Amino acid sequence: MSVEERVYVAGHRGLVGSAIVRRLAQDGIEPIIRTHAELDLTDPRAVEAFFAAERPTSVYLAAAKVGGIIANRDFPVDFGRDNLLIQTHVMEAAHRHDVEKLTFLGSSCIYPRDCPQPIKEEYLLTGPLEPSNEPYALAKIIGVRMCQAYCRQHGRDFISVMPTNLYGPGDNFDPELSHVIPGMLRRFHEAKLSGADEVVIWGTGTPRREFLHVDDMADATVHLARTYSGAEHVNVGWGEDVTISDLARTIAEVVGFDGALRFDTSKPDGTPRKLLDTSALSSLGWKPSIALRAGLDTTYSWFVLQGSDVRVSAKTSLH
Ligand code: GDP
Repeated sequence: MSVEERVYVAGHRGLVGSAIVRRLAQDGIEPIIRTHAELDLTDPRAVEAFFAAERPTSVYLAAAKVGGIIANRDFPVDFGRDNLLIQTHVMEAAHRHDVEKLTFLGSSCIYPRDCPQPIKEEYLLTGPLEPSNEPYALAKIIGVRMCQAYCRQHGRDFISVMPTNLYGPGDNFDPELSHVIPGMLRRFHEAKLSGADEVVIWGTGTPRREFLHVDDMADATVHLARTYSGAEHVNVGWGEDVTISDLARTIAEVVGFDGALRFDTSKPDGTPRKLLDTSALSSLGWKPSIALRAGLDTTYSWFVLQGSDVRVSAKTSLH
């Protein structure tokens, strides 16, 4: 029996989960999926019953409560609690039902706020975290360490992948609670439509971030699930970063907005820089292919096509 006999994608409506479903479809794989209404992953009994009935052989654990800097600041309990519950229940059920491969999706915010750049996998737990998303980061760190613990105690093949900041179709475009790319795409788009002469950018514009298109992320994740088994988590990134003001100028171009940028320094900057070292991933035989400008163009076209159907979570999104 192949490991991919029955693949379960947890979080198939989210940014990453939906991209993994698209990537698997390219190989003719139709994964098992459940909406949040059909299966509440924070409910251990429901998760256990689902695994007993469906018996997946491979699990992509992409279900998570995610959000931007303001959402994390304002709803720290939700981000810590829901992520801990989801990952604990899914990993335990995967173990009890002999899942052959589990691929856990983390986040680059697991690393210390002020660690050397680019960030190597080994820098985990070497210093204090960025406070604005600490409960989220702590939950993800526990996820990484629990994958290792399941390997050590039970001989499980549970791996973790750590994406840099992701963007692409299927993102949450809430103006306040989303991440920076969908937040800016929406704001610049609305400014263009209303003929506004300026757009507000949060923070000082000086923080640096690395951005990876979610289709690259899904391709890397499926590649690692198929080819990598090891205790160390693996970073997934583009390999270069940009300042938030450079990003804003590129987005202005993509959208066709030619007014001014105003920086609102009452909004938080968050961590000063976040660039992942991806040499482990390169040596495992994978490279990204979607450059930022091209990825922003297609994401913007997707956003415009969605019109009022675009996903905007009223609070924070649970994928
Ligand atoms: P982070 O990488 O965890 O800090 O998450 P974000 O994607 O929310 O923010 C990245 C950076 O972009 C931070 O320095 C924000 O202050 C800045 N930023 C500028 N404008 C926006 C915006 O409209 N939305 C968001 N979320 N961040 C913005």
